[in-house]
Amino acid sequence: MNFLKRIPRIFERKQKINYTCEGCGKEVFSEGYFCKDCFANLPWNVGPYCPLCGRAGKEDGVCLECKEKRLFADRARSVWTHGEMTATIVSRLKNGAKYLRFLCAEQLEECYLSHFTGTDLLAFVPMTKGAEKRRGYNQSRLLAEELSGRVGVPLYDGVIKQRETDAQKILSRREREENLRGCFHVVKRKELRGKTVLIIDDTLTTGSTVSELSYTLKRAGAKEVNVLTLTSVPRKPIVKKAPKQDESVHTHQDETPTGL
Ligand SMILES: [Zn+2]
Ligand SMILES: [Zn+2]
Repeated sequence: MNFLKRIPRIFERKQKINYTCEGCGKEVFSEGYFCKDCFANLPWNVGPYCPLCGRAGKEDGVCLECKEKRLFADRARSVWTHGEMTATIVSRLKNGAKYLRFLCAEQLEECYLSHFTGTDLLAFVPMTKGAEKRRGYNQSRLLAEELSGRVGVPLYDGVIKQRETDAQKILSRREREENLRGCFHVVKRKELRGKTVLIIDDTLTTGSTVSELSYTLKRAGAKEVNVLTLTSVPRKPIVKKAPKQDESVHTHQDETPTGL
């Protein structure tokens, strides 16, 4: 982004943050968003993590969840793991504190440069028109737009969410997948053909949403689809349990994810 375009953004940033730490609220005497302590204590997701879903764990290697059923995205990475401070940042970003996109995009850019420099298009997770109207904006789109300006990769806005899905929090991974199936629809196919797409979102929990979106983008012609989020929920500790009868039934069973 050229400098003239950035001026209003820099102004907005300076106006809004008042040089207080976004972690503890203490005054900071530099242009940073955090005081030194909070910055150092942020849960940076720099490894070990799963090479596929990017969730933090005690050791490198493909995590149990990916072994059971991997995401339709080729690779996912997150800046932070989902901890108290990072969950608050995400929650504030989703509930009115739009200026936090500057802080977030700065960190997304670092992660982008480390992992995703071959990207052709930046995508976001679309909301239905109704949901976007209720919130006033789509935080996933805000992040993708801001990152697009920083790294010079075009924003892809050719996919829509065509129906509301139930609130995801209370559902199991499998229920989430069923709930989401077919909810996204590509309206700009041509631009996707043979492209490497990077989906930007705030949080990766079960990964069902970005997985369904990746599936949709790949079916529409994208060559590779990766995911970059601000936070991701660390993988669960290994608990052995007897598999349920119906767990062998997978969504989109006819499609084999690529990249592994
Ligand atoms: Zn602080
Ligand atoms: Zn994994």
